[in-house]
Formats: sequence, structure tokens, C-alpha cells
Amino acid sequence: MVVLRKDLGYRVVVLRLGHRRERDKRISTHVGLVARAFGAAGIIYSGEEDKSLIESLARVVARWGGDGFEVSYTREWRGVIKEWREKGGCAVHLTMYGLPVDSVIDLVRRYKDILVIVGSEKVPREVYDIVDHNISIGTQPHSEVAALAIFLDRLFQGKELDINFTDAKIAIVPTPRGKRIINLENISEEKTYHHSHDRRFITDSLYR
Ligand code: SAM
Repeated sequence: MVVLRKDLGYRVVVLRLGHRRERDKRISTHVGLVARAFGAAGIIYSGEEDKSLIESLARVVARWGGDGFEVSYTREWRGVIKEWREKGGCAVHLTMYGLPVDSVIDLVRRYKDILVIVGSEKVPREVYDIVDHNISIGTQPHSEVAALAIFLDRLFQGKELDINFTDAKIAIVPTPRGKRIINLENISEEKTYHHSHDRRFITDSLYR
């Protein structure tokens, strides 16, 4: 089964607070990778500005696809949250101090546009007050990467694991051993015709 992001039914944007250029380079990149891979439409970074972080995610999108996945930076995270809610979207903050995800996910699922906020070291108190829901993924401290992945999985109910991007240059064909990658740019006209003019179905057919 192949799923496109629009099939997931929600527009999710991740807001990553408090990025620190040196300390968080790797983990902030991973937050972005998880956002893209598991169905979010984009990520907004706040904290220290970091062009190399944005460029490295742009390289992943260029090669593996993203169907418009947007990566941006803002100094004004308050404005992002405020505007999101004013436009009728839901803002959730992932924190170990919040309510258990399974007790609030149905309320979140009533919305179409969901802003998911994750922190780094210390999240300003104000964030807890201005969001619609503070949500915990278990009550132990762990990681924004894990918290985001599990939240998206609860929201999309596992469908995000079949996500596929129509603008990908390459795609993986799952195999029991080894590595199989197809170059989607080299698929011949004949094959395209055979599989209904849509790369989504070409990739789909390779899974069977
Ligand atoms: N004191 C932080 C907190 O409130 O969760 C832990 C800091 S942790 C290094 C960085 C980020 O990971 C947090 O801002 C939060 O977004 C996320 N996080 C960590 N543990 C979490 C949990 N159990 N539930 C939800 N989010 C969590």
C-alpha cells in the first residue's frame, strides 16, 4: 500500500524550539527527518539560526522527495503559535508533564491543521499556557525525536509508515536482505505507460 501525504488527512507542521547550532545540530536534523518521513508538511526551527541545518534537510527533500515539505526558520515562535490558533488550527506541545497522548488524541483529531511543538533543553513557561494541549508520550524524560515519532504515529494511526513522495528521485524496494534502490528518474516511458502514467503506482507495483 502506498500513501501520499495528502491521504493522511491532516496538515501537520512541527515547530522546533530552542535550536542550538553546535549542541543540537544532529538532533534537530533528526526532528526534521522524522517530520518529513512520518507525514508532516513542514518544520519551522526557532532558536539560533542555522543555515547548514536547513540546507541538509533540503538535500534530503531534493533526493528522497517531499511533495512541498517546507523547512524554515523563525525568531518569532510566539507569533507562529498565535497565528496558527487564530486561523483555527490546533497547537500541541509535547512534554513529559502533559496529559497522556491516548487521553487527548481524539480531541486533536477533530482539527485538520495541527502544529506540533517540541523543545530542546528548557521550554519557556509561556508555551505551556498558550497551546491547546500539553501532551506527554509517557511520563519519563526521553527525546523530542521519539516523542514526535510516536505522536505522529498516534495521529496517523500507522498510515504514515507507507508514505511515498511523488517527487522522489529514488525509492527503496523493501527486501528481506541487502539493499534495493530504484532510480525513479530512469523509469522508461514504456514502463510508465504500462503502470498507468503515475509514479505512485510504479513504486506501488514494485512493493508487490
Ligand atoms: N523537560 C523536558 C520536557 O518537558 O519534556 C525534557 C527535555 S527533552 C531533552 C527535549 C524535548 O523532548 C522536550 O521539550 C519535549 O518536547 C520532548 N520530550 C522529552 N520527553 C518527553 C515525553 N516523555 N513526552 C513528550 N515529550 C517529551
